[in-house]
Amino acid sequence: MAEPYTITNPPLVCWSCHDRTLGTHFCSSCGKLVQLRGGIDYFTLFEMPRKLWVELPALEKKFLQLSWKLHPDNFVSASEQERELSLQHSSELNDAYRTLRDPVARLEYLLGIEGMRKEGEHKQQAPPELLEEVFELNESLEELREAKASGGDLAGLQTRLQAAEKSFQAQLGEVDARLQSAAREWDAAFDAKADEGARKKLLSRMNELLNRRSYIRNLVTNVQKELQ
Ligand SMILES: [Zn+2]
Repeated sequence: MAEPYTITNPPLVCWSCHDRTLGTHFCSSCGKLVQLRGGIDYFTLFEMPRKLWVELPALEKKFLQLSWKLHPDNFVSASEQERELSLQHSSELNDAYRTLRDPVARLEYLLGIEGMRKEGEHKQQAPPELLEEVFELNESLEELREAKASGGDLAGLQTRLQAAEKSFQAQLGEVDARLQSAAREWDAAFDAKADEGARKKLLSRMNELLNRRSYIRNLVTNVQKELQ
């Protein structure tokens, strides 16, 4: 039997039939499960282009089809290597599905594989144009905490914070709309095979919007926590 390959040691040929293998999950010559190639991305696992618009019912259908084909139950009487491969493919596919079905996680992932964003990156500084509003918000939050501690009057502060929450929610909606339009531009650029410069510009814009989105979302969550 061929040496078992690892994810960091990608095979150029099928471990079973030794043909050059081009399939993502199965060898196109002999139909056996292939070794997962190093650096293979979630879009490729789903045999999809790196585009941001994803039809969820179609994604789910593909997921169910692939999970069924890759499922360890199909390999109970296969070799140990194939059983191991079936587990690897299935687990990668699950991770891929969880990420791709969520629009924000999908975008974050795309920015990661395009080299625009490090994993777990969250810019926590306030966008400059929000500074004043954030400053006021933090003041109101502080006052509310003090009033809660000293048993002071909460109603006025709560009203002020509810208004702030509403304003930030509206801004979140606006960021989402801008993200959607940038995502459409990305898909169009992908189809048009736009050059590196144009792609980088779009990625950087989306990265900025995503940072802004997570910043505002945090604010909203904090306000909601204090208003409970
Ligand atoms: Zn093969």
